Amino acid sequence: MTYTYDPQNVFARILRGEIPCTKVMETPHSLAFRDIAPQAPEHVLVIPKGAYVTFDHFAAQASDAEIVDFNRLIAQLCGLLGVAAPDKGYRLVSNAGRDGVQDVPHLHVHILAGKPLGRMLPGAKETP
Ligand code: AMP
Repeated sequence: MTYTYDPQNVFARILRGEIPCTKVMETPHSLAFRDIAPQAPEHVLVIPKGAYVTFDHFAAQASDAEIVDFNRLIAQLCGLLGVAAPDKGYRLVSNAGRDGVQDVPHLHVHILAGKPLGRMLPGAKETP
């Protein structure tokens, strides 16, 4: 699989310090910051510092150190935000490509939390 990375995407520019972000946490290989248009009371984006387009790109080609760092940061964020299950809970979303309706072509995982989030996709049956 070939992946083409656009170094001018907005998250690449955040990583280079060209535009600001509201940082939540930073590790050697990853950065977490607040989404500029939050869709839940807690909406944090987690990105690797490396040039990966999608989750499958990252999972296939990142180093073990990058993958561990990214996942451990998500765990730390769940603790920091106070949303860890089972008491509260959260949703991780990573949109990829056209059908996933990915707007920014740099891998990011959305952490959404802070209220009941409903079913995952429009049209899915709601819990009675
Ligand atoms: P996606 O559709 O999964 O690619 O989501 C991209 C997300 O990036 C959206 O939720 C945007 O609100 C968010 N976003 C875009 N630009 C910025 C920015 N400069 N700082 C923080 N979040 C951003």
